[in-house]
Amino acid sequence: MALIVQKYGGSSVGTLDRIRLVASKVIQTREQGHDVVVVVSAMQGETDRLIQLANTLVTEPDPREYDVLVATGEQVSMSLLAMALHDKGCSARSFNSLQIGIMTDLMHTKARILDVKTDKIKHELSRGNVVVIAGFQGVNAQGDITTLGRGGSDTSAVALAAALKADECQIYTDVEGVYTTDPRLIPEASVLTHISFEEMLEMASLGAKVLQMRSVELASKHNLPIRVLSTFSDAPGTLVTLEENVIQKRLVSGIAFSREEAIISLSGVPNRAGIEGLILNRVSEQNIEIDMIAQNATDKETTDFTFTLQRKDYANTLKIIEQLAKELDAVYVKSNANVAKLSLVGIGMRSHSGVATTMFKALGDHDINIQMITTSEIKISVVIDEEKLELGVRGVHEAFELDKLSSEKKPAFLEV
Ligand code: ADP
Ligand code: ASP
Ligand code: MG
Repeated sequence: MALIVQKYGGSSVGTLDRIRLVASKVIQTREQGHDVVVVVSAMQGETDRLIQLANTLVTEPDPREYDVLVATGEQVSMSLLAMALHDKGCSARSFNSLQIGIMTDLMHTKARILDVKTDKIKHELSRGNVVVIAGFQGVNAQGDITTLGRGGSDTSAVALAAALKADECQIYTDVEGVYTTDPRLIPEASVLTHISFEEMLEMASLGAKVLQMRSVELASKHNLPIRVLSTFSDAPGTLVTLEENVIQKRLVSGIAFSREEAIISLSGVPNRAGIEGLILNRVSEQNIEIDMIAQNATDKETTDFTFTLQRKDYANTLKIIEQLAKELDAVYVKSNANVAKLSLVGIGMRSHSGVATTMFKALGDHDINIQMITTSEIKISVVIDEEKLELGVRGVHEAFELDKLSSEKKPAFLEV
């Protein structure tokens, strides 16, 4: 008998019929003789609705109250799933994070899990119950409810699986696994049978929202494989695991992208020590996070300094930078709030050259101008106009023949 943690995302519990379907899947797993702990997200659209309520009421919701509010979504779905299980004759009990003791730090709205108490869960399992737990939420040392950031139920599931030393952590979603790129943008994308923790971490941090980045970090730390699979099909899904267990060796594994980006460039910046720190300090003082940074090497008296950031911070940052440009004299600011970041990820890049050449040629062939480039050992990211994003992803996907990875072609996702 194995212990299996299953997480069902928002679309998997989006309607009562789907909650019934989830109950049947849980029962199937039980009937195979396994103990099951289920983590649920809020019903599809519910977290957005709650956030919108808060933001409509006040301009800056108090973080403590915000967490109390948005954590309610998961409590609805956990109890409904327990009822659906009862209705099908399966004994089950639902619990929120306070009842279980999913302990986090004090950081409201994006808390980190510090510890998970397992006694209650083990006790319920020993009594033959399926244990249904609210994802996305935790409790801090002050006894206050916290939440783990958008997509945080994935992290709840991995943290529970690690604490319980579960045999498997299964993340059920609305697509058949991890694809070479978002199948909603590129329907020809292929499902990967395996992906390494390292690549998945890059994909998630660069915009592929199929798994929350922290869930991958945590799984990698505990060497806990995650299986990503669909609630609506019996396909085997994707195993996120150690690099040595990845059977298909590929040059590149996937393309991630994020749309909500902006770019700001200062030209004519005095070429002297400390200037970069001065620019970044002005921005970080306002708690604004910078993403990519580039400065051209020059032996002239001035240099160009360019950075990207999330679009939501664009207007504030531009004000700060324009003020700074005035102080520095003769500095000229250029900016664009309609850019996107496209990233190619693959561990094969470590040992093979020419990946960047193929990528840049594919973008050039589609007349896509690259505004900025950053690279690391296993990824290449470029900033391009947002309106060219789909064309760019398609072009790079074709150039690396990523559509040819799976032998069988099926509809990639369920229309919701
Ligand atoms: P859930 O509600 O189950 O947590 P999410 O919406 O958070 O589901 O994540 C699943 C979605 O992630 C898919 O519907 C898909 O559009 C998107 N996605 C982005 N990139 C990828 C990728 N590389 N592979 C699979 N899905 C991806
Ligand atoms: N319900 C939360 C969200 O929408 C958490 C999750 O779905 O993982 O972000
Ligand atoms: Mg999610």
